[in-house]
Amino acid sequence: MSIADNLGQIEKRIEKAAVKAGREPASVRLVVVSKMQQPSAVDDAARAGQRLFGENYVQELVSKVSQVGEQVTWHFIGSLQSNKVRQIAGLVEMIHSVDRLSLAREIDRQWQKLGRICNVLVQVNVAGEATKSGSSAGELLELVRNISLLPNVRIKGLMTMPPFFDDPEGARPYFRELRDLSRMIADEPIANVEMNELSMGMSGDFEVAIEEGATLVRVGSAIFGERQAS
Ligand SMILES: *Cc1c(COP(=O)(O)O)cnc(C)c1O
Repeated sequence: MSIADNLGQIEKRIEKAAVKAGREPASVRLVVVSKMQQPSAVDDAARAGQRLFGENYVQELVSKVSQVGEQVTWHFIGSLQSNKVRQIAGLVEMIHSVDRLSLAREIDRQWQKLGRICNVLVQVNVAGEATKSGSSAGELLELVRNISLLPNVRIKGLMTMPPFFDDPEGARPYFRELRDLSRMIADEPIANVEMNELSMGMSGDFEVAIEEGATLVRVGSAIFGERQAS
């Protein structure tokens, strides 16, 4: 199967899951995760019509941006150190992985220099796993309030990575919890905060995530196959 074929299959599955959930298929955007893939693979997917890509690592993103020939949009989805924010300033249209105020402040500072606003999602560690980054559910509201005061950062929604399950149904309660948290925040009157995006679901569980309200699904290996060593 070619990248274009795989992409077509995933798009069909996204559409089917949306329809099953009574949702508009266009309300779900596919973020193709190109980490550990060659720039040419991004160009192939772009020529097949995919324009939105997600990267996890700063160095890899920076070099890929300069090597990809097609016109594409990048989202940063991996864990991010504050001292590396400067390198991706202006290169990405959204950062999915904001999980602490110090990081949001540095994003604000770097985007301010460009005279632009950075769209962000607040990452939530719904299951409270020690090995995963993300705000705890309990600290989320205060974090959102604090980030909302930064003029060059705009919160668009929430993101999560649930624990891994062989059966995608295992992830459903975590997706549902993220959606509930998003509604809880949407009910608070906080200026500068939108709760329109839910970034959840990967190759193994994106259909379940769509049923639970995902607006951004992050899919890598189902499109590119196994990741290459770079
Ligand atoms: C790698 C990665 C993905 C994609 O995972 P696949 O299982 O390859 O689809 C999605 N989100 C994040 C944050 C990732 O690191």
